[in-house]
Amino acid sequence: MLNLVIFGAPGSGKGTQSEILIEQYGLDHISTGDILRGEIKAGSELGKAAKGYIDAGQLVPDGLIIDMIEKVLGERKPKKGIILDGFPRTVAQAEALDALFAKLGTRVHAVLDLQVEEAELIDRLLKRGQESGRSDDNLETIQKRLGVYHAQTAPIAAHYAQQGVHHAIQGSGAISDITARIARVLDTLA
Ligand code: AMP
Repeated sequence: MLNLVIFGAPGSGKGTQSEILIEQYGLDHISTGDILRGEIKAGSELGKAAKGYIDAGQLVPDGLIIDMIEKVLGERKPKKGIILDGFPRTVAQAEALDALFAKLGTRVHAVLDLQVEEAELIDRLLKRGQESGRSDDNLETIQKRLGVYHAQTAPIAAHYAQQGVHHAIQGSGAISDITARIARVLDTLA
C-alpha cells in the first residue's frame, strides 16, 4: 500500500498532480471537494448541509467530513493505495485519519506539501473560476479560503513532520517539473 496525502493551499495544484500520480502509481483518488460537489449536484442531505460552508469559503464541519471519509474508505477498498486530495484539512481530521488507517492496519506514507506563492495561487484560482465556473473561485471567497488554509489547515504540516512523513515540494513552474520533484520524494520511500 502507498497512501499519500497531497497537501497545499487552494490552487497549489493538488488536483492536477493527483491526476498524474493516479496514472503513474495506480492509486485510488479521494478528493473530498469533488465528493462534496457531487453530493450538492445530487441534492443529498450531505450536499445540502455542505453547500453553505463551501460557498462561504469555510470548512465543512469535521464530523461530517470524517463520517464521509470513513464511508468512502470502506467502500473503495483500494488495492495499491490511495491519494487523499483536500483531506485532511484540520488537525482533528488528521488525527481521525491516523486512527482510521491504524484500524485498517496501514498509515500515511507521505504528505506532499505543494508550496506556491500567494499571488500565484490567487492568479491560478481566478483563472480556474473563469474556465470551470466553480462557485467558490471568486476573489472574495478565494481570500477567505486562503485565510482558512493558514489558520486551520497549515498546522497539519507540523503533525506529519513529527511522524517524519512531511515533504515540502516547490509547487511553481512547469507541471512536469513539479511531478518530477514529487517522483524524487516517492523514490526515497521505495
Ligand atoms: P476543494 O475542492 O478541496 O478546494 O474543496 C472545496 C471546498 O469544499 C472547501 O473550501 C471546503 O468548504 C470543502 N471541503 C473540501 N474538503 C474538505 C475537508 N477535508 N474538510 C472540510 N471542508 C472541506
